Amino acid sequence: MSLIRYKEKRDFKTTPEPGGGKSKGGSLIFVIQKHAASRLHYDFRLEMEGVLKSWAVPKGPSTDPKTKRLAMMVEDHPYDYKDFEGSIPKGEYGGGTVIVWDQGTYEPIEKIEGKKAQEKYLLKHLKEGSVKVVMHGKKMKGEWALVKTHQSENSWLLIKHKDNYASDADITEKGKSVVSGKTLEQIEKAMAPKISTGNTTVTKTSSKKVTVKKVVASKSSATKKTVAKKPVTKSSKKKA
Ligand code: MN
Repeated sequence: MSLIRYKEKRDFKTTPEPGGGKSKGGSLIFVIQKHAASRLHYDFRLEMEGVLKSWAVPKGPSTDPKTKRLAMMVEDHPYDYKDFEGSIPKGEYGGGTVIVWDQGTYEPIEKIEGKKAQEKYLLKHLKEGSVKVVMHGKKMKGEWALVKTHQSENSWLLIKHKDNYASDADITEKGKSVVSGKTLEQIEKAMAPKISTGNTTVTKTSSKKVTVKKVVASKSSATKKTVAKKPVTKSSKKKA
């Protein structure tokens, strides 16, 4: 319910991550983000009580019911995080690029009508350490369970139930964002800071490659030649 921990960890002057957001629509939503932080992982988030209950899944989901994936519960995230795709600056909490790997609606396996009643039911089961859901995503479909373990306070397992969507194919090979159609690497490139210097546009890529695009100068600008010394980018959000 509370986003205190979420807010404490972040500096909203620096990070482009959302600060809040109100639940919309008649169905509960989920999002899974692929996040290239210091270590690549997937963030599994289920809407409950107006926020996104969140787990970091180092290896991502497996559609093979025999392969249980560790999921570490982390702080609640705001509802608007469901659409967050972009770069968290280096040095900030979770610094690195994020894509919306999957998105959709979900419901408890138990047939319960209405969002409010579903949430109440899910919250009770969350407290008890076992959440069973049906997911209606682009990649994630069918029944899944999150089960708390006794390993440590925040450790859970993400498990695929045996149903028509169970498969031994590796679902994480579907690497593109369901929002932009881009891979993590493509977003990273697009987010690299562009510094405009006179007639040339320098695109710094993460791999230290520097691409220099010559801007064809029109006659008038070539004769006037007003050189702006400072990089004009006011948005010095140092997107890493
Ligand atoms: Mn993350």
